[in-house]
Amino acid sequence: MDFNAEIISVGSELLLGQILNTNAQFLSKELALLGINVYHHTAVGDNAYRMKNVIQNAQERANFIILTGGLGPTKDDVTKQTLAKLLQAELVYDKDALTKIMNYFKKANRTMTENNRKQALVIKGAHVLENKTGMAPGMVYVHNEIIYILLPGPPHELQPMFLNEVKPFLHKQGYLSHFIISRVLRFYGIGESQLESELEDLIENQTNPTIAPLATRGEVTIRLTARGKTEKEVNELLDKEEKKVLERTGRYFYGYDSTSLPLEVSKLLEQKNLRIASAESLTGGLFSQLLTKVSGAGSIFNGGIVSYTDEVKENILQVPRDILQRDGAVSSNCALKMAENVRDLLQADIGISFTGVAGPSKSENKEIGTVFIGLAFKKEPTVVYPLNLVGSRDTIRKSSANYGFYYLLKHLKKGE
Ligand code: AMP
Ligand code: MG
Repeated sequence: MDFNAEIISVGSELLLGQILNTNAQFLSKELALLGINVYHHTAVGDNAYRMKNVIQNAQERANFIILTGGLGPTKDDVTKQTLAKLLQAELVYDKDALTKIMNYFKKANRTMTENNRKQALVIKGAHVLENKTGMAPGMVYVHNEIIYILLPGPPHELQPMFLNEVKPFLHKQGYLSHFIISRVLRFYGIGESQLESELEDLIENQTNPTIAPLATRGEVTIRLTARGKTEKEVNELLDKEEKKVLERTGRYFYGYDSTSLPLEVSKLLEQKNLRIASAESLTGGLFSQLLTKVSGAGSIFNGGIVSYTDEVKENILQVPRDILQRDGAVSSNCALKMAENVRDLLQADIGISFTGVAGPSKSENKEIGTVFIGLAFKKEPTVVYPLNLVGSRDTIRKSSANYGFYYLLKHLKKGE
């Protein structure tokens, strides 16, 4: 079936600029993946009259209308009441939803008001969508060849409901003739243009899957999107294309979809039962922060020393004075000592160090962007990676931390 969709976001807070309409963004992305064209987004306040007008406009130009928000218990939540009235449909209590609400109040030992019961009202004849993360159920209602989908406003309720209830329902009803699945391949240590030129012929001749390169957060990603009649068929198409891409660029590839360098490093450290410690100068603790953002960091990270001045490098990290005087703090030798000594001082298996010039001015007469990253593994000779980075102070600091993760990952993967 050919759909053309409109997303109606309900809530005065949207119009007042108090919240961002992330539901429209989420749904648009998801509908695009399903091959459903979204031609309009509209937003309307919690007002039955204006909402009615917006729905009537949508009826003129869309046959797939999603309404989000306004399904809650309060007086200003009027979405389903307004739609039911317009379509001359009846509202009835959904038994399961009502039981769930009553049980909740019993368990929480709170009295239930009529407002709360209201959340269990659904349009008679609608397919009810269970809300596993909240109270108000959603609905799919078909009327005069238009599909209406009502979803709760809170994103943590709307998103799982769309993915786990709406999508399977649409497939089951035969509304969707094909599956579209995307897979994101993540790369580091290669520029966007280099990656594109490696894959030039694949990109030029793309059909199904399509290949879309994208650069974000100092990383490059490739999004492969395939369509087919079954999930299996689509995944096979993606596997085949991924193989072609990785044959050429595999050494820069580090993970899929929403993963990150710190997450991949953490997984490997955990698997190999290794613990790390960091000595950070120009990154000022950024590496440690990114690593500890990943849950479970306690089992892989001993700690870090932010060794910003020469004194701390010498007195705490025990970098020999003659290295600091002869080579300077921004030097390969200093990075080497920082990495080895922090590993030993903090009794870790691996030490990583960062020293360099983040700017905005030169230091020790070394150019902005000169960075040394040291990696000291117990049973391997210590290595130091020199880098010449470009960009603002912020970019150089962030890139340095990311390169640290990248080199670590390379070492951890060696011999696998
Ligand atoms: P409602 O169901 O309209 O009472 O919405 C409940 C809450 O969900 C609001 O207070 C917002 O925090 C959130 N919300 C509602 N609509 C949206 C939207 N379009 N995008 C993001 N969050 C939303
Ligand atoms: Mg609201």
